[in-house]
Amino acid sequence: MSVNRQVLLASRPQGAVSEANFRIVETPMPSAGEGEVLVRNQWLSLDPYMRGRMSDAKSYVPPVAIDAVMVGQTVGEVIESRAAGLAAGDMVLTQLGWQTHGVARASDVTRIDARRAPASYYLGVLGMPGITAWFGLREIGQPRPGETVVVSAASGAVGSVVGQLAKSMGCRTVGIAGGKAKCDYVVRELGFDACVDHRAGKLHDDLAAACSAGIDVDFENAGGPVLDTVLRLMNRYGRVVVCGLIADYDAAQPYGYTRVRSILVNRLRVQGMIVFDWKDRYGEAVAGLADLLAQGRLKYRESVVDGLDNAPRALIGLLKGENFGKQLVRLA
Ligand code: NDP
Repeated sequence: MSVNRQVLLASRPQGAVSEANFRIVETPMPSAGEGEVLVRNQWLSLDPYMRGRMSDAKSYVPPVAIDAVMVGQTVGEVIESRAAGLAAGDMVLTQLGWQTHGVARASDVTRIDARRAPASYYLGVLGMPGITAWFGLREIGQPRPGETVVVSAASGAVGSVVGQLAKSMGCRTVGIAGGKAKCDYVVRELGFDACVDHRAGKLHDDLAAACSAGIDVDFENAGGPVLDTVLRLMNRYGRVVVCGLIADYDAAQPYGYTRVRSILVNRLRVQGMIVFDWKDRYGEAVAGLADLLAQGRLKYRESVVDGLDNAPRALIGLLKGENFGKQLVRLA
């Protein structure tokens, strides 16, 4: 165990990400300094935002530097501690990125309770995606019982939680997902009222049929033609939570949105969200989501690939919709 395996950003993609944008290296195993811990990562989260960090376009956080370790959240086991309050054997959530091991300052790790839920859940339903769903829907979407809530990427990490929360709030809940298998899962397993396949070529007609009373809240994860179609069907005073625009991330050119007029005509409230804005309240969301999980009222699915070397391919797949549930890499 003298070597640390890492995936570095080798070059910035122009358009779609390719495996050539990454480089895998082995470096000497680091050791913990004063106030630090050495962690063996067990799970790496793959998330759509990583595409943005590979680019140097202006964003809400700086890009990953060329030749730096790819950014990402991990959960893993402390194997050496020189920090008060953390001991070997503790399971922690970290930002160590795409590598098998890493050293973190104690202030940059969060201890997790792997008896309450499997460790990987802290990267998904009890982690950043679940928290995004919790605050985005409740605080920005503000759905009322009886309203129609639409969520895109509905079988995914964020969307699956949004739809189940909306359903529990008494809303008619309609998902948008890619393909029959995902749509079937969203309705039969997650309990949405309906799900529309955005890859079937007739999204407007199918969505209009599924939302016969129009749309009151759109939780937007997709962007592109999906968002334009939803905007056509929004009701007056509807709310649009702009959480993600994944259709744009890998595109060589940004999509040309054409339905801005609907915002005016229907007096829509359109608000972007970045989950960090609720940083001080993450515990509230995690507690609420953990309760729902414990009660069996929140279903959750993972899409797992094994081995760090497969992470680049899995991120490329995630951006194309090849994942089915929260995308993870099992490292150990
Ligand atoms: P998912 O698990 O939902 O995986 C991404 C999914 O996006 C794919 O499986 C695919 O589902 C869908 N997708 C890919 N390309 C397209 C396309 N061109 N049109 C429509 N759908 C597409 O990922 P997450 O749940 O982690 O993230 C969902 C969204 O939420 C992303 O946009 C992400 O950036 C955003 N996000 C934002 C946060 C914030 O703070 N603002 C925090 C976390 C996530 P399908 O096959 O069903 O099309």
